Amino acid sequence: MKRRMENLKDFLEKVSTETGLRYDPTKNNLFGRFNNYHIVVDSFNNEFNIYTSIRKNGSIPNLNELKDAAALVSGITDVKLENNRFVFTASADSSEILIKEITDITNLLSDAGYYNACVKCGGREFSLSYLRPASNTIHLCTNCYNTVKGVSNLSDENKIHENVLAGIIGALIGSIIGAVVIILIGRMGYIASIGGALMAYCSVTGYEKLAKKLSLKGIFICIVIMFITVFYANSIEWALEFCDSFNEYYSNEGKASFIAVLFNLKELIAEFGLGLEYIKDMLLLYMFTILGAFSTIRKGYQKSKMQQSSESSFC
Ligand SMILES: [Zn+2]
Repeated sequence: MKRRMENLKDFLEKVSTETGLRYDPTKNNLFGRFNNYHIVVDSFNNEFNIYTSIRKNGSIPNLNELKDAAALVSGITDVKLENNRFVFTASADSSEILIKEITDITNLLSDAGYYNACVKCGGREFSLSYLRPASNTIHLCTNCYNTVKGVSNLSDENKIHENVLAGIIGALIGSIIGAVVIILIGRMGYIASIGGALMAYCSVTGYEKLAKKLSLKGIFICIVIMFITVFYANSIEWALEFCDSFNEYYSNEGKASFIAVLFNLKELIAEFGLGLEYIKDMLLLYMFTILGAFSTIRKGYQKSKMQQSSESSFC
């Protein structure tokens, strides 16, 4: 299946280069103007659906009339009328064959006097616009395009709004959970850096849950919060280790103060010559956090982008 998809992509890209139709990788279809007709080419299995919106003397042509005409074109297996559009089903084993079929169909339409028309109003316009909602690609005249676009703009405003402040709180809660895990893993004597990946996951998920959306801004905020939290988590872990050692070796002098150790961590590290160890720990932790963040952010951001359902373009 995957292989077929890749082949299909090459196939459609080749047709795109030859015909000037635009290739949409998200829907694996072609759309644009060819031979004076606006068409959309959708693919399924080994067949292709070629969509056109045409009229003759102001009305939609008779389906049987079109079927009879299409019977003369080799490779066309079916003609249907769907939502004011005629759909020619064609089988093609090579891009050359598909291009020939598209050429034959459009020639046939022009010979029979069918003209290119707006899907909605049937207006005979030469400057058609495309509206590409998630469901399908349709071609509209400028008037209809603006009307429909106005409606979709209104619904844009109702779309999920990103609550940045709530997101920051979510990212903070998430990263604190991650920090606690980093410290706990470290206390158990394991490599704390694995906790970095979890920290990234919790932080990004926390942001997304509370902000209701993950934008590039949100990702940036998460990264800053993670960067700071990872630093403090590692420092707290080290301070706790120092306290343990002090309590073990100087047990007769009372318990070491965690706060005092934490505030003098830099000096203690220098005094015991542990600078390299400390930096190594920190770098490993950052590395795991980045690794975890990368996959979490990619997934979250893709999901967020998918929510932006409608997309449009002029052609
Ligand atoms: Zn129109």
